[in-house]
Amino acid sequence: MPYCCQCGSEFELGARFCKDCGMTLPCVVAPRLPAWMEPAPAAVRAHVAGPLPPHKSVIVAALLAILFGPLGMIYSTLMGALVMLTASVILAGFTEGTSLLITWPACILWTVIAARIYNEDRR
Ligand SMILES: [Zn+2]
Repeated sequence: MPYCCQCGSEFELGARFCKDCGMTLPCVVAPRLPAWMEPAPAAVRAHVAGPLPPHKSVIVAALLAILFGPLGMIYSTLMGALVMLTASVILAGFTEGTSLLITWPACILWTVIAARIYNEDRR
């Protein structure tokens, strides 16, 4: 089996391009491209384009809290989720669930704020 002259991987006879590096085949050993023509390594490209910041969507956070209350808060704040889960359960026990009318929106508010703070820290 012939080998690609660019990356050295084997290729099928008759293949027009190297499956690994995309080199046109069959290729003769070409002189190395000048540095400025070489494709930038991925790390450099990522740096130029700016790495994607780890980011928590405020909308997703709010939706999760709307749907799941304290459990939805885990997405943006684990500690908040634990606090609100405990508070919700205890208060709901005393108030036969009426307190959820207060704790549920509080969860949504808290998780949205937590997601925003999280994003601010990543700037
Ligand atoms: Zn190749």
